[in-house]
Amino acid sequence: MKKDIFDFEYEELVNEFSKLGLEKYRVDQVLDWIFQKKVFDFNEMSNLSKENRTVLSERFSISLPSLIDMQISNVDKTTKFLWRLEDGNTIESVLLFHSDRVTACISSQVGCAAKCVFCATGQSGFVRNLRAGEIVSQVVAMEFHRRVNIGNIVYMGMGEPLLNYDQVLKSVKILHSEKTKNMSMRRISISTVGIPEKIIKLADDLPEIKLAISLHAPNNYKRDMIVPMNKKYSVEEIIYAAKEYQKKTKNRVTFEYILIREFNDFADDAEKLAEILKGMGAYVNLIPVNPVESESNLKMERPHYWVVERFKKILDEHNIENEIRKEKGTDIDAACGQLRRRNVESQKGKKMEG
Ligand code: SAH
Repeated sequence: MKKDIFDFEYEELVNEFSKLGLEKYRVDQVLDWIFQKKVFDFNEMSNLSKENRTVLSERFSISLPSLIDMQISNVDKTTKFLWRLEDGNTIESVLLFHSDRVTACISSQVGCAAKCVFCATGQSGFVRNLRAGEIVSQVVAMEFHRRVNIGNIVYMGMGEPLLNYDQVLKSVKILHSEKTKNMSMRRISISTVGIPEKIIKLADDLPEIKLAISLHAPNNYKRDMIVPMNKKYSVEEIIYAAKEYQKKTKNRVTFEYILIREFNDFADDAEKLAEILKGMGAYVNLIPVNPVESESNLKMERPHYWVVERFKKILDEHNIENEIRKEKGTDIDAACGQLRRRNVESQKGKKMEG
């Protein structure tokens, strides 16, 4: 079996190449072809000898996920990609265009075990972890297909990154290397449902990246209803881990808070949220929910505009810095996981018909 070149950190690749009698600078050349020039065939790497090209293509694959579907928003260029992996599984990634930079939102797992009730990915269940190479190649493939230079990476696509800790860690290191994507750690964010011990570990392993925690409710009673994982890791444990993380890294943590109409959007909820985050210097992202179909009994609607504003004002009054997240790609399947879900459903339909 060929080895996926995207699975290797620089030093590992140097080692692999040396086993084949290839010098270190050959690794630099190959990585430059792939990450800068976007050439994905060893035979087109003109500064390698014919023998080297043959040896390398026998040992390594440069496998990008294959593109099944790409939707580009007419409103703001937001681009959603649906990819097929080598084993036939599908994942999504998204490009978001800001005035000064392009952000890539990438997946860390096929499906997700967290099963948050508002999330399209969770509804289809967990399938498997992605390898580091499958995480890295999403970035390369998006740059290739849309001819852009990605300036920010967020692990906010499908899956729970901290439940695929080792491969996620490795992918961050690969993307950070100056020999590959050369992505600054400060421009990488990991978003988690909140796994306390992994948050604390992250403070040691990747102290410079940004951390976002999907809190969504200010107490266990409400959080239990929308984030099943809360039964295992309570709000208190998560806040404690976030504080430890901040102490160690001196980084401010972002809390994501999805606003669901008449569920967690009351003035009381805002007051309680302000109370538990008091003194942390945290940042809150307020996200009016993107309604997705779900088996839950909970009605998932967006709050009225003034309710969102009221929530924000209460946080402001308590000096909790926050913003209301602006929606992007409103004209394409906006919520994460929707593209894949539609695809999986239609495959099921086809199978039943056939
Ligand atoms: N598992 C990680 C990362 C994937 S979810 C996490 O939980 O953070 C990335 C973000 O998208 C999370 O904040 C998640 O809560 C949010 N999200 C998922 N479904 C959503 C929806 N229907 N509307 C708005 N945000 C959603």
